Amino acid sequence: MFKNFKLVDKVVFGRGCFNQLDEILNHQRTLKSQGIIFLVDHFFKKNDQFLARIPLRGNDRIIFADVTNEPTTFYVDELTQSIKNHSNLLPDGIIGIGGGSTMDLAKAVSLMLTNEGSAADYQGWDLIKVPAVYHAGIPTLSGTGAEVSRTTVLTGPVKKLGINSDHTVFNQMVLDPELIADAPDEQRFYTAMDCYIHNAESLTGTFLNEFSKSFAEKSMDLCRQVFLENGDRAEKDDKLMMASLFGGLSIAYSQVGVCHALSYGLSYVLKLRHGLCNSVVFNHLDAYYPTHVSEFRHMVDKNHISLPQNLTESLSEAQFDKMADISLVLEPLWENALGKDWKSIMTRSKIKELFSKM
Ligand code: NAD
Ligand code: ZN
Repeated sequence: MFKNFKLVDKVVFGRGCFNQLDEILNHQRTLKSQGIIFLVDHFFKKNDQFLARIPLRGNDRIIFADVTNEPTTFYVDELTQSIKNHSNLLPDGIIGIGGGSTMDLAKAVSLMLTNEGSAADYQGWDLIKVPAVYHAGIPTLSGTGAEVSRTTVLTGPVKKLGINSDHTVFNQMVLDPELIADAPDEQRFYTAMDCYIHNAESLTGTFLNEFSKSFAEKSMDLCRQVFLENGDRAEKDDKLMMASLFGGLSIAYSQVGVCHALSYGLSYVLKLRHGLCNSVVFNHLDAYYPTHVSEFRHMVDKNHISLPQNLTESLSEAQFDKMADISLVLEPLWENALGKDWKSIMTRSKIKELFSKM
């Protein structure tokens, strides 16, 4: 069976296009609702200039997303409940403005406003049955591809796994490169390396096809222009935003690989961010992605990034086992990277040995 991939309904791209948000949202407004909710990354809490540009009307309000930690099912449930408690009416929309974490929270909350129970009940594939409230994603960091993907990655009580469904996909994305301009260099780099690694894993995987290859090759080329060439920062931000989108489109029709499988385990136990964990893991994967790891190290050096070392030094055996458990359940990732026979190549002890080097 071929994947019948659901795309985001509408996309606007360009410097300053955030100013069009009011007009875009006016088409969604109804008389019977609690207004539109802007779920904004808490990073912008004190940025009055930016907050003043959010087109609040009527009962609209801003809720700041606390993304100190990556999204949990518990936090999604809490946010959803607080919106339900506010009024018997649903909002006309949930607009996620922030990095991958905030966009994922916006997706998850929009789904849980119309689907009963806890977000943890829906971690998996196609478990969501009722369409979400209208939701839009507006990235302020580029790399994850969360703006285009059909998942929202959540840490739950027992697993770190996305709510993967066609209903998860945003109705609208607003891609304004001006919004990523002020991200600190390290954060910008780690989030962008998520994109570089999406491409590397897609291009070298056994699930590769022309759809995924076309997007990944262009995305890779853009990553190289941003992190290996000299040039204007604004132009680079435009490129990075497109790289993220194309990387997301590539893996949507293929899959990620060894780095992501291990990174999920590492970030679950160490409570560190996805982009950072990916970078730490990728640096130890010469055996699987030799040319890409070497190019990645070149990017690390050229951009003066100091990768953390020895993160797993003081972890217990039980924690190593937990990391291996989380990684091993991600079967499609292993199969993409190593083929159908992956279990004979990637054993639990091999995984633990790799983790011990990080
Ligand atoms: P993030 O959203 O976790 O944010 C990282 C930090 O940067 C936070 O402290 C945030 O407040 C801050 N920040 C956000 N925008 C900023 C800006 N413009 N300037 C300065 N600081 C800013 O980072 P991320 O790397 O974009 O996203 C990682 C998350 O995305 C993880 O939770 C991961 O699981 C998820 N993810 C989702 C998908 C998907 O397809 N849904 C894919 C990959 C990753
Ligand atoms: Zn990723």
